Amino acid sequence: MAKGSETAQAGPVLRRAPVPALGCVHQLVLPTPWEVGPVQIYLVESEPLTLIDTGVRDAPSWSALDAGLEQIGYGVEDVRRVVLTHFHGDHLGQTQRLREAGPGLEVLAHELEVESVENFAEGRSEDIEAAAALLREHGVPGDVIARQSEMRRRWIAEDAALCESTRVDRAVRDGERIGFKDLELEVIHAPGHTAGHLLLHEPRTRTLFTGDHLMGEAVPFTETYYEPGAPDPHDPLARRPRFRGLAGYLASLRDLRRRAFDTILPAHGGVVDRPARCIDDAILFYEVRVQRVLRALEKLGASRHETTAWQVWESLFPKADPVTQMTKRMMMVIGALDVLEDAARVAVSRSAGGRLVYRIV
Ligand SMILES: [Zn+2]
Repeated sequence: MAKGSETAQAGPVLRRAPVPALGCVHQLVLPTPWEVGPVQIYLVESEPLTLIDTGVRDAPSWSALDAGLEQIGYGVEDVRRVVLTHFHGDHLGQTQRLREAGPGLEVLAHELEVESVENFAEGRSEDIEAAAALLREHGVPGDVIARQSEMRRRWIAEDAALCESTRVDRAVRDGERIGFKDLELEVIHAPGHTAGHLLLHEPRTRTLFTGDHLMGEAVPFTETYYEPGAPDPHDPLARRPRFRGLAGYLASLRDLRRRAFDTILPAHGGVVDRPARCIDDAILFYEVRVQRVLRALEKLGASRHETTAWQVWESLFPKADPVTQMTKRMMMVIGALDVLEDAARVAVSRSAGGRLVYRIV
């Protein structure tokens, strides 16, 4: 097969040793049908032969993976281990197919991602219910939520076509080491984009594999969703436990900023050779948005009366489509309100209708 000829993308599939001091690591660039563009996965050419992420599950992505591996001298059946940075389709997608291609594959993921990796499509009808409840609690009107849920159902079906669940053979957590014949990678838990997103650090060359946590030319959206479990009995508002992605993301970035890295190998956007600046840019990106949310609250008179997250959304994005352009922006607004609540800049209470309302303090 002519190498890369089946793929829809321009440019080479393989970048050998993007970090010259770490010659056993190669970058494979696989196409995705999504706006995000190609995804960059990594082959660690050591024992066991390991991929960090696997690309979406479709024919162009599979043939690009096959072509890239072949250029280095391997076949898809030779991969013995996959480490997933997180469960999204362009990372998890082809893992099960790799398992079926070879004699045995060990799949590693953060312990908080196991459920999502193993039940990628199945568990997600509950996600729709939970997302609707979260939007309702934050003041989104019922008709918008109904259209939103319908769109989510479509997305999930589309995702399921491009990504397959697989078993996690080893769940890892922060600080754990992943061993190879001649190197070791340290797991760093980095919540934000997802709850169990992980980074991998190679200490000798100070190389950091970041998945979507830090990227070459973009900043990831951060998630928020209800987690299973009863409301916190100590919370006077009896709020359901919720993953607060943006607060977690900023805390993670500040932790990373205290460490020194030479190179970032992300899942999108090339190779980053100025890690400190990349981290600072991501922090600034969200600090600016938190300030915009605070200013929107001021404009809405939230020092005098209570305001919902939805009112902030409407004020910040008057031209955005309330269905197709709502979810990620709303997650940002709720995330920014979490950050402001943690900093004691806003107070939260519950309105008579059960919605959460915010007031500047
Ligand atoms: Zn992702």
